This record gives sequence, structure tokens and C-alpha cells, in this order.
Amino acid sequence: MQTTTRVAVIGGGVVGASVLYHLTKLGWSDVMLIERSELTSGSTWHAAGGFHTLNGDTNMAALQGYTIRLYKELESITGMSCGLHHVGGITLADNQDRFDMLLAERAKHRFMGLETEIVTPEEIARIAPVTNIKGIIGGLYDPLDGHLDPSGTTHAYARAARMGGATIQTHTMVTETNQRPDGTWDVVTDQDTIHAEHIVNAAGLWAREVGAMAGIYFPLHPMEHQYIVTEDVPMIADIVDAGGEHPHVMDPAGESYLRQEGRGLCIGFYEQRCRPWAVNGTPWTFGHELLPDDFDKIENSIAFAYKRFPALETAGVKSVIHGPFTFAPDGNPLVGPVPGVRNYWSACGVMAGFSQGGGVGLTLAQWMIEGEPERDVMAMDVARFGDWISPGYTLPKVIETYQKRFSVSYPNEELPAARPNRTTPMYDIFSDMGAVWGQQYGLEVVNYYAQDGEPVLETPSFRRSDAFDAIAREVRGVRGGVGINEVHNFGKYRVTGPRARVWLDCIMAGRVPQPGRLSLTPMLSDKGKLIGDFTISCLGADEFQLTASYGSQGFHFRWFSSRLEDGIDVENISDTRTGFQIAGPKARAVLAACTRADISDMRLRDVRRMTVGMTDCIVQRVSYTGDLGYEIYCDPMGQRALWWTLWAAGQPHGMVPFGMRAMMSLRLDKHFGSWMAEFSPDYTAAETGLDRFIDFKKDTDFIGRAAAEAERDRGTTRRLVALAVDTDDTDVHGYEPIWLAGEVVGFCTSGGYSHHTGTSIAQGFLPRQAVSDGLKVEIEILGQMRPAVVTLTPPFDPDGARMRG
Ligand SMILES: Cc1cc2nc3c(=O)[nH]c(=O)nc-3n(C[C@H](O)[C@H](O)[C@H](O)COP(=O)(O)OP(=O)(O)OC[C@H]3O[C@@H](n4cnc5c(N)ncnc54)[C@H](O)[C@@H]3O)c2cc1C
Repeated sequence: MQTTTRVAVIGGGVVGASVLYHLTKLGWSDVMLIERSELTSGSTWHAAGGFHTLNGDTNMAALQGYTIRLYKELESITGMSCGLHHVGGITLADNQDRFDMLLAERAKHRFMGLETEIVTPEEIARIAPVTNIKGIIGGLYDPLDGHLDPSGTTHAYARAARMGGATIQTHTMVTETNQRPDGTWDVVTDQDTIHAEHIVNAAGLWAREVGAMAGIYFPLHPMEHQYIVTEDVPMIADIVDAGGEHPHVMDPAGESYLRQEGRGLCIGFYEQRCRPWAVNGTPWTFGHELLPDDFDKIENSIAFAYKRFPALETAGVKSVIHGPFTFAPDGNPLVGPVPGVRNYWSACGVMAGFSQGGGVGLTLAQWMIEGEPERDVMAMDVARFGDWISPGYTLPKVIETYQKRFSVSYPNEELPAARPNRTTPMYDIFSDMGAVWGQQYGLEVVNYYAQDGEPVLETPSFRRSDAFDAIAREVRGVRGGVGINEVHNFGKYRVTGPRARVWLDCIMAGRVPQPGRLSLTPMLSDKGKLIGDFTISCLGADEFQLTASYGSQGFHFRWFSSRLEDGIDVENISDTRTGFQIAGPKARAVLAACTRADISDMRLRDVRRMTVGMTDCIVQRVSYTGDLGYEIYCDPMGQRALWWTLWAAGQPHGMVPFGMRAMMSLRLDKHFGSWMAEFSPDYTAAETGLDRFIDFKKDTDFIGRAAAEAERDRGTTRRLVALAVDTDDTDVHGYEPIWLAGEVVGFCTSGGYSHHTGTSIAQGFLPRQAVSDGLKVEIEILGQMRPAVVTLTPPFDPDGARMRG
């Protein structure tokens, strides 16, 4: 048995096999897969083998598209059959919200190059005759949908990997993973010990147990899942005899997916009465057995399916497949370098291995070999959960995800499971003031405050929600006087040490400020992709505070940690430094009333330490609202005292508390971009305009410099712009196509209603040469073409007089 390898992939399910293949495809041949039994010995062997591109996250949908297109390539490389049936599939909608979601998906597919199509009930009856279209208002047809042979496909990946030089060691169980001081690993098996530079955990159902061998907790949990294969169904037999195949039908209302299996049908359910499996750990003895049939938990789903697919009612049951597979709390895979553990990679939590496995393998191989994936994969980055994550959080979230697998996902939806989880000292004070809470990275964040009959829960919607008036009221309060909200949901880092400035100069593309000042800067990857949008505050010669996205904390801290040097310390203080921001024309008067410090000469981007009320604070003059404003940071122990001071001082000025919904409206007035919408690793600084913050004059070879310079010289083909949209009850949310002269030429990144200006504002990318102020385009929102005008000057405070004043 081979005992050294560059990469040890643990697990020979479809995901491990795909990772192994992609590593060889991208050039690493000294790679090895270790499987305790035969290949496919976890969830993979009993999968229904269905695949589809539909996914609420656009980047995940693109990776699913890649996976599906890969199968033909695999067949031609290996000469093996994946048992492919590209029969197409229809997702049904039986109410307007479901139909809205399909319209939004179809619109996204236009610029992704996916040939999906909205179909009428009559077309559904023709394409998928097994469907009873009563109550159906439409559907989305995807010609790429289909199914395959799970075992044949896994073996095809394996053969392709072997052809690229990989080794596959079956009947070898990994029992320990021990890291050497140089960062390499001893992978101890029941046969021999393998010395590997890298480990990939692709252990599927056992990923938790394999992770624990290295002291890592992977937030995933197995759920039981069941599908039924019927005896022959006459309607299907007729189709087969006529040389045809029935397409897949996804019925979200019935939480079912259905497809042809031989001359019969196969139907599976995501039932509400679902059950988690192996709560205390997956037994090592579990292998090729199935779970006992359980018709009780799918009784309601079956009754619904009989109405939607009447042919099922008389069809005999040929077999029942009931097995477990794993989910992460949000249903997306856990991929990438595990934070804090050198040379340990995750490829687990993949709940749709045949839709996503190829994309997961490609992404991981790019990350390992090329240093970064080619696209934004934040949605499946293993770092998207922080170190606060626990099994107690994961389990209810996984159950919720399973139950909502086929539900409508609304842009303004807040899911209730496992909440409240993480709260600041302000939680009860804000709740008493009517806070309507949302959740970000496990943290409770106020969306808005409900007052005087305003909705205490925002109804999820694709259109303007019932919180519209409450948000408008908060925006008026900020622009007309002063507003206050918390700054707890910024990711914050303290960088200290004699080499802190030198280090930051290299990590960040922008200028590192002098003591008492702050600067804004993009952070770039080696390839020049935008991986952060930071504020650097210089608190002293050797001390800096960085602020960025709270949700990208795991990603950013992993990036910093892997680039640490002697003489620098970076501490994640996201939850240990909190505070408030006050914004609006009266903000200065409020702050002045609370401190003995003279703030009259405090300029935009100044940073000072001062006592506010009783609390020692770091105060910086800056505001994402685009108004006169201050961010006031403090220790959580002093936060309540600081609150009462600011709140009391705000009363004479009509201070209003405001939430994230108002904040996102206010930033639109200034055309400010938002992390993971306008700014993400899918884009470069020059495309988004953040290159204005790159300090090309500094003599440091900062990360991404060569790529940024090359782009500066070459120019970009697309450009981020803002647009005023003519619409009535709905705004842009993200990824809506932008049409010009009958063609899709761009897409939106985000949008919303600017309550202050009374305009619907979108942001998005257009071809650079097409952009001009006043250019008229159309944006497809929920299936309707809405006129929009490119607006290069922000409607609020265009010359910055108010912000600087
Ligand atoms: C009933 C059912 C129907 C499904 N239908 C579909 C479908 O239609 N489409 C779809 O895309 N997905 C479907 N799935 C999900 C799909 O099966 C999974 O997404 C996929 O199989 C996950 O593959 P994996 O490689 O991550 O994990 P697994 O298949 O669980 O593979 C993990 C492998 O690791 C090995 N291993 C674990 N620990 C060790 C160790 N210590 N040493 C060595 N080897 C180890 C195991 O033996 C196993 O072979 C279905 C799942 C179920 C349960």
C-alpha cells in the first residue's frame, strides 16, 4: 500500500471521487482516495440520482450547471456510462408567490446562459402528462434536468482520476489524523499510516466523526429521506413504448419530486414530519443497509401526491428507499480550507451530490492548486459559520432547512429556528422598543422597529413588504434629525505590533492611515479579486482597528491568520467591541452633548478616543448612511450605559432608533455598494469603482497589485452603475437581467426603495462602453420589463457637503 501522498481524500462517495478527479484534472497526480469499504458506501449508493440547476443562490446554480455538463465529459474520457437521462424537468407553481420565485429564477438564468423557460399549465399537461394541472398557474421548464446512475457516475469519476494518476485505496478505514509540526498529516488507517501533505474530508455521513479525529466540528447533520419506486404505470409504459421519456416534475406544494423509473415512477418527499438521523454520531457499522420503511411520516405527502399525480394512486409499490444524507444548517455544502487548521480541507455537507458534486470538486481543486476558486463561493465556504457554531444550533437549523427544501425563499425572509442565539446587551432594550429582529451569522440584528400598529413581523414577499411605512418613518427620522443603531454587526479586528503598519500595507490595497485617521480600502486576492471592503482606523503607531462585513468574519480571519508574521498580532474583536452609530444632521449636537471632548474640529474620517457619558469609546466620523454621522465603539460591558447617555441626549433632537432595512435604503441614496452584493470575489476593484481607493503610489507589493495594475492598464469591460427604476410595488433584489435594445447586457447586484428620494434604485453591471448618464434600459423584475435610467450622480448630497459639513 502506498504510504505517502500529496493529498489524502478521505471518503469514496460521489464527492470524494469528484475531488480526486478534479485534482488530477488540474495537474496534481500524486493524490490518493481512502475508502473504508467499496466506493459509494455512504449516502451515494441509495441516491435517486436526480440532478437540476435550480438554486436560490446564483453561484450555486452556476456550479450545478457545471456539474451537469460535466457528465458527458466524464463519459467520453472514461468510456463508461453515467446512465444519463437528460429528460428535462418542470417545477410547478400553484400560487403567485411560487410563480414569482420561478419568474425571478428564469430572469437570472438569462445572463447565466441557462435555457430555462416559463411554461403554462396547458404546456405542462403536454410535456408532463402525469401531472394534474388543476390549481397550477405555471411552471419553470429546465431542459438540463435529469437523472443518472449514482454508482456508475461515481465509478466514472474514479476511473477518470486513476487515468490522471490518482490512487484509490478501498477497504481501508481512516482511524486517526495526526498533524506533524510541519503542518503535514499522518493519516492512520487500519492497514498502514499514510503521510500526506493535505487532507480532504469527504467522508459524507461520517464527516463529523472524521473531523473530530482532528478536533474539528463540522456543522452538518444527517436527515432521513425516503423515495418510492412504483410498479409499471400504464401511462408511462405507453410513453416508453412510443420511444419517449417522461420529464421530472418538482411539486413544491406537495414537497415532492417525481420522475420516470423504467416503466413506472419514482417519487420522493421532503416531508414536514421529518426525522434527523444518528443525532449522537454515525455508527461505523452502518454501510449498505437501508432504514426501515416509514409511510407514517409521509402520509400527508402521499395523499397530496395522489391528487397531483393521479396515476400514482393505482400504482403498486415496487420498492422503498429510505436512507440518510447530510445537510449543513443552510443546506449548502461545506467546502474549502478549514479555518485554523493548516492543510485540512472540507468537501462535506453536500446534500445534492449529483447536482453539486462536480462543482464542489472543481472548486476545491482550484482552491488547493491555484490558491483561490475562480468564482465567489462564499455561499458554500466552510468558513461561513463562525466558531460559535455548535451541534445545538446545527440540529434545529438542519431540520428547518430540510422542511423548507421546496418552500419559496423570499428576499426579506427571516427563518425562526435556533433563535435568538447570539445577542448583545441591547437585546431586551430594543425588544421593548418594538424591534423586529433578523439574523446575521448567528447574531440578532434589528431589521426595523414596529410602532403604533406597524407589523411586529414582516411578511415575507418578493414585492414591497408591509414594513414599508415603518422603514420610511425611520429614514425620515435619520435624514430630518438623527437616528441611532448598533454597530455590533461589523466584523472587527485589532491589528497590533511593531510591524502592523508594514503588514497592513501588504494585505490591503489602499492607503494605511496615519494616527487619528481612517481610510477605506479594498482587500484583493492574488488574482486581483475583491475579497474585502475594509475601513482601517489608526488608533496609534502600532494599533489599528479594521472593520468589514460581520458575516465574512470566518473568511477574513482565516485570510489574516494564514498570512501572519512575526511582530504582528491580529485579534478578531467582532463580538468584544460593540457600540452605536448616530447619523443625521443633528448627530454632532447629540455627540457634543455627551462628551467633554471638543468634537467641533473633528473632520470626516477622523478617529479619536474619548469618554462618552461614562464609557470610554473610540469615535470615528463616518457613516454608511451618507449623512453626517459617527461610529462610537465601546466594550460590551459599557454598552448599556452608553446607550442611555446617547438616547437621553438624542431626545431633544427627536432621535429615532433605526434598523438594517432603513440603513439599506439610506445607503442607496448615495449609491453606496454593499459587501456580497456590489462587492464580492466575483468582481474586481476596477469593475466596481473601488479602485479609487487603491494606493498605486505606495511602494509596497501589496497582495493583488500585479493583477490590479494589469487591469488598470487594460481597462475593464463592465462597470458598476446605479439606476433609477420606474416600478410600482416591487424593487430589484439582485441578479435581475438588464436589457438594452432587446438584449440582456447586464445584471443587477442589489436594489431597493430609496425612501428619502422616493425612487426605486438598483445597482448593477453594464458593459463599460454602453454606460452614459441618462442611458435608458429595462430591468426584468418578476417577469415584467421595468424602464430604468442610468444615474451616475447620487440623488442625495451629491457633493458630500452634508457628510463633510
Ligand atoms: C434516499 C436518498 C435519495 C437521494 N437522492 C438524491 C438525488 O436524487 N440527487 C442528488 O443529487 N442527491 C441525492 N441524495 C443525496 C446524495 O446521496 C448525497 O448528496 C451524496 O451521496 C453525498 O456524497 P458524499 O460523497 O458526500 O458522501 P457519502 O456518499 O456518504 O460518502 C462518504 C464515503 O466516505 C467513506 N468514509 C467515511 N468515513 C471513512 C473513514 N474513516 N475512512 C475511510 N472512508 C470513510 C464512506 O464509507 C463513504 O463511502 C439522496 C440521498 C438519499 C438518502
